[in-house]
This record gives sequence, C-alpha cells and structure tokens, in this order.
Amino acid sequence: MTEDTTPSRPANYVSGSWNQPSGTDSKQITNPATGEKLCEVQFSTGDDIDDAVAAGLDAFESWRETPVVERIQPLFRLKQLLEENQEELARTLVKEHGKAFDEAMGEIRRGIENVEVACGTPMNMQSGTLLNAAPGIDESAPRRPLGVFAAITPFNFPAMIPLWFLPHAVATGNSFILKPSERVPLTSTHLLSLIEEAGFPDGVINLVHGDKTAVNNILEHPDIEGVSFVGSTEIAKYIYETAAAHGKRVQAQGGAKNHIIVSKHADLDFAAEQTVSSAFANTGQRCLANPIAVVVEDVYEEFAEKVVSRAEALSVGDGLDDETDIGPVHTEVHAETIRTDIEAGIQEGATLLLDGRDAYPDERNTYLGPTVFGDVTGEMALATEELFGPVLALSPIPSLKAGIQRINDSRYGNAASLFTTRGNEARQFKHDTEAGNLGINTGTAAPMAFYHFGGWSESFFGDLHAQGEDMVQFYTDKVVCIERWPDSDEK
Ligand code: NAD
Repeated sequence: MTEDTTPSRPANYVSGSWNQPSGTDSKQITNPATGEKLCEVQFSTGDDIDDAVAAGLDAFESWRETPVVERIQPLFRLKQLLEENQEELARTLVKEHGKAFDEAMGEIRRGIENVEVACGTPMNMQSGTLLNAAPGIDESAPRRPLGVFAAITPFNFPAMIPLWFLPHAVATGNSFILKPSERVPLTSTHLLSLIEEAGFPDGVINLVHGDKTAVNNILEHPDIEGVSFVGSTEIAKYIYETAAAHGKRVQAQGGAKNHIIVSKHADLDFAAEQTVSSAFANTGQRCLANPIAVVVEDVYEEFAEKVVSRAEALSVGDGLDDETDIGPVHTEVHAETIRTDIEAGIQEGATLLLDGRDAYPDERNTYLGPTVFGDVTGEMALATEELFGPVLALSPIPSLKAGIQRINDSRYGNAASLFTTRGNEARQFKHDTEAGNLGINTGTAAPMAFYHFGGWSESFFGDLHAQGEDMVQFYTDKVVCIERWPDSDEK
C-alpha cells in the first residue's frame, strides 16, 4: 500500500486489509490551490462500521494482554516512518487541504510529538499502590484498557489531530477506529499506510472514511467504549450528547473565537508580529488562531499600523510554492462565506484597514489575502462569530480588565493571549481569563504533546482533554484491588 499514497479512490483499512467503503454516496476531492481533481472518496455504511468494530474487538482480546513494552514498539517504528516520510506526507496534505508546505511539516511534527509521548506509556500508565492499607492488606488501583475507541476528526489538521488520540489509545491497550473528515481523506490514508508498515497487529488500528452516516453509526454502536471528536461547536455538542446517551465516554472539542489582549505595556513590534502570525497562519483556519486583538486605547493606533504593514507583506499562493505564506482557503464555498462576512463587517460599521479579497490574481475563488478590520466593537459579528479564515479584527478597549471581560463574555473559551512586559498584568490574566489554553507573550497558545490541549465553555464538551496525561485517563479505567495473602502455613 505504501507505494500508492494518493489513490484515486481512498480505501478503508480494517483488520489489516484495504477495502472500498460500501456506501453509494461519495465526495470528489479537489486541490484548493489548482482545482485539480485528486480523488473520489466513497462513504462507509453501518455495515462498514460493524466490520471495523468487530476487527477492533477481535484484536483487543490479545492486544490488551500484550505487555505494554511490546505495545509501544510499533509506535517507535511509526515515529521513524513519519520522520522519514514527513515531506511526502506533507505534500499529500498540502494538495488536499491547501495550507503552506511549512505549516504541513509543522503539523506533522506536532503529531510525531504525540507518538513520542505515547512511547512513555509504561511510565504514564502506572498508578498507585499502598502497602499495609489495613492489617495484612495491600491496596492498588491498576489501570485497564477498555476496548474499542473511535475518533472523529476535522479537515483543518488532517495529520496532527488523529495523532492526538491514536498513539495513546493503542499504547494503553485499546483498539482504535479513525473516521477522518471526508474533506481530507488522502492524508489519513497515507498515515494509515505508514501505520500498516509500522506493524501493529491486524485490527488494532482501523480507518473508515465517511460522513455523518458513519459518525452516527459510531455514536450508536454498542461495542464502542468511547469517542473523541474535534470539529465545530454545533457538531461537538451533538456528538457529546449522542455518545453520552449511548453510554460512551466522550470528549468533544468545538470551535473558537480566540482573543489577543495588547496591554499599553506590550512590546508592540513583537505583539504585532505574533498577532499577524496567529491570525493568518494556516489561512486563519485554526482553532488556536487569534482572529481578534483587543488593544488598550493608548497604543491602539500605533499597533494597528504595525499589524497592517506586516499583514500586507504576506504572500498568498499555492501551498507548494516556496514563497507562499498563506495558502488558499480549503473550499470555494467557504471562501465565499468569508467574503460575505467581510461585506457584513463593512455594513456593521467596522473600518476596513486591509482588504484581502483581491489579493491574488487568479480566477479561483479559493484565494483570499489577509484582511484587517479596525474599530470593531464587542457586539459585531467580527468580534463574536468564528469566521475561520484570514480575517483579523482590531478592537480598542479602555483597560486590561475590559479585555479580560471581553474574553469571559465570549461563548467560546478555547484560547487567549496577552502581550505585556508587566508581571502583575500577566498574573491577573492568568488568574482571571476564562479560556483553556493561555498564552503570555505568545500569539498561539498551542500546548506541547505532554500537556493536555485545553478548551473551555462551548469550545469543549467533556472533562478529559486531548493529549498528555488526560489521554491515559480517558483510555483506561482504574479498578481498586484489595489484597490479603495469609501466611502459607495458615489454613
Ligand atoms: P465539522 O464539525 O464540520 O466536521 C468535523 C467532523 O464531524 C468531520 O469528521 C465530519 O465528518 C463530522 N460531521 C460533520 N457534520 C456532521 C453531522 N451533521 N453529524 C455528524 N458528524 C458530522 O468541522 P470542520 O469544518 O471539519 O473543522 C473546523 C471546525 O473544527 C472549526 O469550528 C474549528 O474551530 C474546529 N476545531 C476545533 C479544534 C479544537 O481543538 N477545539 C481543533 C481543530 C478544529
């Protein structure tokens, strides 16, 4: 399979075999940069999900009893394969997603870091023992894997987000089903070909392509123990409620509208550089992007000028071109929605400081350059709604406290950043801001793989998050074992 990483019809990978999904519905995938047709992905049916679950259950019987030091060996091989094939995988990703090549390389690196952390599962999965808890009695709380888990993932990080979950699920002794976004089937197919090469036993890791039909079959399947989801808030909420109603563990990360606060004590050049990078990298299609900067009035005009001059220097183009900073938006439909949102921002009374709508001289509507709005107020859609594109709103505020309040009033709570040179301001931000990933003097608060990926309010439904220690807890349960061993000469 590894020689054919861009198949014209991506297949499911179930129990170590590649087979076409059996559904009749399908989706054509095109390169957002060129319009070239890349493949046609068929969707899975309930029968396909049943097959994947049966494969997972079958594999689980022996995988759960496989020593953990053996379970991590294929992960070490996967790390090596991902590094050896990083550029090729990044090219697959850029072609179907559109992001710039360096961004694709960076996202794969982030995924590899999760594999590395999961290789530490022999340490991470240990849990407490107390000798002589009572006379002659020892108590311990060993962790056990639970069975078959599934992850349902979005289009915007097709390599990294599956790797938030997959390595941890299998290192802890579970089997796993990945249902990637139907909009980016090639990256996951490529990833699974590397997983196949890494040598996991058949059925431990499975891939099913599909849309909401596949998702609903996963949510309702009685033999799936738990579901991880990453995507938009409305679907995250639905996944959380439906999976929980079917007795599953569930963690569902949703959308975002992250804020940067710029204090009057900030290093404005550095803050502007970081704000531009945060808002426009990945063409703004990131849940950790900060598409709004609330700026203390004393420094607002100066900051706005610095932001605009940096943003207009970014080059827009095909993600595979070396000069490209910003690739196309993923689909023409989404690009059209962003154009409508820009028009709505003008109508609402925000000041258009930089117009990215005609930034790229190409007939394809997927290209949008950086757009910057000034004078955005807290009630405008530019301040409250997730646009998921290269649009940055600048909003003057009277004080740091008002900035924190603006964040706390948001329905979302994925991330927030503060730029300041004052420790007391940083401390206030750290104590009072209601968001799960906080950045101080960093524009994108992206936790490393050994920390959980936060997310509060309507950016997250559940309690245990992706990545880090939370993953071991999500993928295992503890039993309490109370042991008494009378001396052997006793009856
Ligand atoms: P999406 O919600 O449209 O799709 C995500 C997944 O849900 C896909 O696998 C899709 O097949 C499935 N799905 C879509 N509609 C469904 C339905 N009606 N019923 C059941 N399943 C359905 O999200 P997207 O457009 O692929 O990704 C972008 C969104 O993801 C943004 O809102 C972004 O903020 C969010 N996101 C959040 C995080 C985070 O960690 N919080 C990370 C990345 C992306």
